[in-house]
Amino acid sequence: MEIRSRKEALAAGAKFYFTGKPCSKGHVCERYADGGDKGRCRQCAKERVKRALGRYRARHKAKIAADSAAHYQANKAERNAAAAAWRKANPERTRAFTAKWQEVNREEYRKIGREWGQNNKDKMRAQRARRRGSEGFHSEADVLEILKLQRGRCAMPSCRKKLGKYEVDHIVPINGGGSNWRQNIQLLCPRCNASKGARDPLDHSRMLGFLL
Ligand SMILES: [Zn+2]
Ligand SMILES: [Zn+2]
Repeated sequence: MEIRSRKEALAAGAKFYFTGKPCSKGHVCERYADGGDKGRCRQCAKERVKRALGRYRARHKAKIAADSAAHYQANKAERNAAAAAWRKANPERTRAFTAKWQEVNREEYRKIGREWGQNNKDKMRAQRARRRGSEGFHSEADVLEILKLQRGRCAMPSCRKKLGKYEVDHIVPINGGGSNWRQNIQLLCPRCNASKGARDPLDHSRMLGFLL
């Protein structure tokens, strides 16, 4: 930094001047040529602002926390979109982050997966069906409606047991080219569902007819 007086700095149109001498706090740095910040050096000015900010934050702690939480909520969609865009633009790093997170949080990850599966049985079935080359989607609401149409009973004609626990069955099995659309869904008691698996899929669906 060039050593010059305040007068010289002002004449040169500069914002700061530098005497090379320490301030009362021992900082050797520039000062405001226009006498700003009460003639403090830049370092002293910076520390003053920091102290003032600290005092302000201490006084308005609750309000700042509330504002920050509100801001966080209000910008949720935007934030998620930005994060999604970043993930799309950085697939490699996203995969690495995800893998790392899953590795570190293995138990948590399994738990989330289990809970998601419990709450999204329809999506799980669609995913399994897709993996086996079948298309279609039926919702949990569809399943409940089918349960009502079956009057709460097992769809197997020879059974018709009142359903407590029920299993979602594809009338024409996925392996036999059946879809995952609701027209191909029936609800069976666990016993009938287990015995159906052993039968020839086409015979079985012929025997049942399309109930719904
Ligand atoms: Zn200072
Ligand atoms: Zn049954």
